[in-house]
Amino acid sequence: MMKKSPISLPCALCRGSGKSAGSKCIACTGKGGVLVHPREDGTGLPCGNCGGSGKSWGHICKSCLGTGWQDRVVV
Ligand SMILES: [Zn+2]
Ligand SMILES: [Zn+2]
Repeated sequence: MMKKSPISLPCALCRGSGKSAGSKCIACTGKGGVLVHPREDGTGLPCGNCGGSGKSWGHICKSCLGTGWQDRVVV
């Protein structure tokens, strides 16, 4: 009996990029800024995680854990 080997398919969630794009930045909750060291004028610093865009582009895909591929075992 032949052993079936796992087949790697591009992740459907991130389309093979390995990153989850377009979601809200968890560091600033989409605001784009964080009040790390609040100044007297009340302005905060741009979020270092998303660069102030409020969107997270650097998080790894939850589905494929950043590999961009999903192993699918054919039975
Ligand atoms: Zn952010
Ligand atoms: Zn993925």
